[in-house]
This record gives sequence, structure tokens and C-alpha cells, in this order.
Amino acid sequence: AFVTFEGGDGAGKSTQAKRLAARLREAGREVTLTREPGGSPWAETLRTALLSERGSALSPAEQALMFAAARADHVDTLIAPALAKGHVVLCDRFADSTEAYQGAGGVTAGTLAALNALVVGPTMPDLTLVLDCPTDVGEGRTRARGDQDPFDQARADVQEQRRRAFLAIAAREPHRCAVIDATRPVDDVAAEIWRVVSARLPQ
Ligand code: C5P
Repeated sequence: AFVTFEGGDGAGKSTQAKRLAARLREAGREVTLTREPGGSPWAETLRTALLSERGSALSPAEQALMFAAARADHVDTLIAPALAKGHVVLCDRFADSTEAYQGAGGVTAGTLAALNALVVGPTMPDLTLVLDCPTDVGEGRTRARGDQDPFDQARADVQEQRRRAFLAIAAREPHRCAVIDATRPVDDVAAEIWRVVSARLPQ
């Protein structure tokens, strides 16, 4: 099974992905926990380039291509092989982040969908947890952890546009997506995620 975590910066995706990985392992499942951008050695190299000063100054089109190139390697070398071995794969961000982030950057939805189709192919998530919180809550959390990430400095209206994009994806694909209220304490969010995963994932 393939589960992705999506949502804005500071929503708690990484924390919740780790919590779910631990819980699934306790339940005896083999888990591969990974993230985007990055996840595989080559994709992590592209991540470092993207998150550099130069990378964050690239045009939205160039960024979209680099995120897609990183995803292609990640899917081919890590995600698909882990799924083939029967692992539960948990991925902190995936294709929906491209739609929300590069879409807010101005690349058309059609182009992004074509890029995603090209690199994701049949390796679509079975379940996507959209961690939703008001953008000022997410911003407070990234500030509190001292994030220097150049992509986190986006204007409030851009952050709001990304949030709306994630919610639109969830509304469009309700069978794949579950929206989780991520303003609540970590333990409460983890408990809800466990309920959703237990109900929706094949045992
Ligand atoms: O989620 P994480 O903090 O690891 O992502 C690294 C940075 O890349 C974040 O600031 C995120 O906003 C940005 N990003 C992006 N487009 C994506 C995925 C991530 O701009 N498709």
C-alpha cells in the first residue's frame, strides 16, 4: 500500500509520517518511510540543488521539471520496488505537492498533470492524508523550528492558494484523499490518522 502525506509547510507531515511508520511497524508491517523532494540518492541530490539559493530562484517551469525529474528517480528506484516487496510506503509529500506548489507558481494544471502522469505512471497513492491548517498556524510552526528553507518564505496569498489547491484535490478525489484537521495536538492528529488508515488500508 502507498500512503502519501500532503499539506502546507508546518502542517506536521514529517512528524505524522514518522508516528504512523512506528505504529505500522508495531502492528508487524514492513514500512518504507520516505520523502519528497528527495527520497532516493539522485533525488536527494536534486533536492539539495532545488533548496539552494540558485534553485529557489529558478523559474517555475525549471522547478517543475526538476521536481518531476527527482520524482521519476524516486518512484523507479525506491517506491515501486518497495511496493513490489509488499512494504507499506509512506511518503512525506508527493505528486499533489507539485499541483499545489508549482501550480501556485503559475505552471498550468495541464502541464503539471502531464509531468506527473509521465513520472508517476501507475504508482499512484492508495491513500493521501491532506494535513490541513490555516496558513498562519503552519507559518508559526516553521518559524518556531527556525526553517531557513527559501521556499518557506512565500507570501501569505501564495500560501493560501496552496492550501486551497490541496483541499480542491481532496474534494476532487475523495476516494483517495482524507482531509485531517492538523491544528490539533500531535497525539490527536496521530490518533485520527490511525483511524483513517485502519479503515481504508487493506489489512
Ligand atoms: O516538505 P519539505 O519541507 O521537505 O519540502 C522542502 C521545500 O520544498 C518546502 O519548502 C516546500 O515548500 C518546497 N516544495 C515545493 N514544491 C514541491 C514540494 C516541495 O516548492 N512540489
